[in-house]
Amino acid sequence: MTSNRQRSEADRGGGWRHRAGCLGLDTNIFFPVAEGRSPDGTAQAKSVCQACPVREPCLQWALSQGVDHGVWGGFTASERRALRFRAARRRVQPVNTRRMP
Ligand code: SF4
Repeated sequence: MTSNRQRSEADRGGGWRHRAGCLGLDTNIFFPVAEGRSPDGTAQAKSVCQACPVREPCLQWALSQGVDHGVWGGFTASERRALRFRAARRRVQPVNTRRMP
């Protein structure tokens, strides 16, 4: 049996892929041509991701690698760009000029 610690280490290393909900499915589902143009273009992929046990490590991997195509972790490329943008904005803390000498 795999402990939670071993599992999370495997997830960081890419072991999560062996538990992917999309294993064996048609990859075209996750790389729709019309992403952003058709509301149904990514619906099937997102539905699979919603039930996937490794959604979080999958999304984190796609974000860390800057993957700019396809649905990963239930997010389209444009949705991941928005996540990265919001995360970058949160990292930039506003400077309180009133406290400056
Ligand atoms: S979250 Fe989606 S794309 Fe990622 S492994 Fe699971 S089913 Fe596949």
